[in-house]
Amino acid sequence: MDEASIRLSIFITLLVLLTLGQQLFPRRKPLHSTPKRWLTNFSIVIIDSLLVRGLLGVLLPVLVAQWSTEQQWGLFNLLSLPDVITVILCVVLLDGLIYWQHRLFHNRPTLWRLHRVHHYDKDYDLSTALRFHPFEILLSVLIKNLAIIILGAPALAVLIFESLLSGMALFNHANLKLPLKLDIMLRRFIVTPDMHRVHHSIYNNEMHRNFGFNLSIWDRWFNSYVAQPKDGHKQMMIGQPESQQLPTNNLFWLMWPALKQPIQHKTKTD
Ligand SMILES: [Zn+2]
Ligand SMILES: [Zn+2]
Repeated sequence: MDEASIRLSIFITLLVLLTLGQQLFPRRKPLHSTPKRWLTNFSIVIIDSLLVRGLLGVLLPVLVAQWSTEQQWGLFNLLSLPDVITVILCVVLLDGLIYWQHRLFHNRPTLWRLHRVHHYDKDYDLSTALRFHPFEILLSVLIKNLAIIILGAPALAVLIFESLLSGMALFNHANLKLPLKLDIMLRRFIVTPDMHRVHHSIYNNEMHRNFGFNLSIWDRWFNSYVAQPKDGHKQMMIGQPESQQLPTNNLFWLMWPALKQPIQHKTKTD
């Protein structure tokens, strides 16, 4: 199986399981029409995939990793550590990079306009994980490729990381009620749905916190961790303060007019 088939199989299996999970054990009642949101969010991920394949087809991260290994470029190609250590370190370091990239997208006004498309969703379920503006996806692939070359990350590490990232994003955006004890145990290590939901709050001091996607350590280490939303998970408002007046489920509006919306609040995280 090639990279695309492996990633697609993991993605579809998780999509089916988590859709079932959030139907059976929902955390919150959706406030808006789910079919409309899903149509928008799934359309965005299709546009993203076509664009990345079309524009960056030869620059896909696993191919970049293979190429930089052949060239013997990057830190880990110089260090010659055992393969298993290299793979684990690269997966963890790439996760740290995604944490800081996410913080940067909240901190810089131009980047925030792109990333705000993700935060404009007025409900929170696994389809929210698919909702990233194509320009943000393109930028993020380029940043990741640069990191892969600098690290000299092997293709296996990149494949594991990419599969983990898309799988974990679906999991931690799911409208899924986990038993409290399980949530407490899991979030010592990984980002749970309750932990990431805080990040989708309309409040400034909650939306600019909990940036992690896979490991929860980064938010604790770098002082951006908030355990629970102040209004509780069932009552908290999701989205942006101005979302209610905006056509946030209109695909065409999200692609361009949304980027020109004024920024209503400070974007600094500290
Ligand atoms: Zn964010
Ligand atoms: Zn999110």
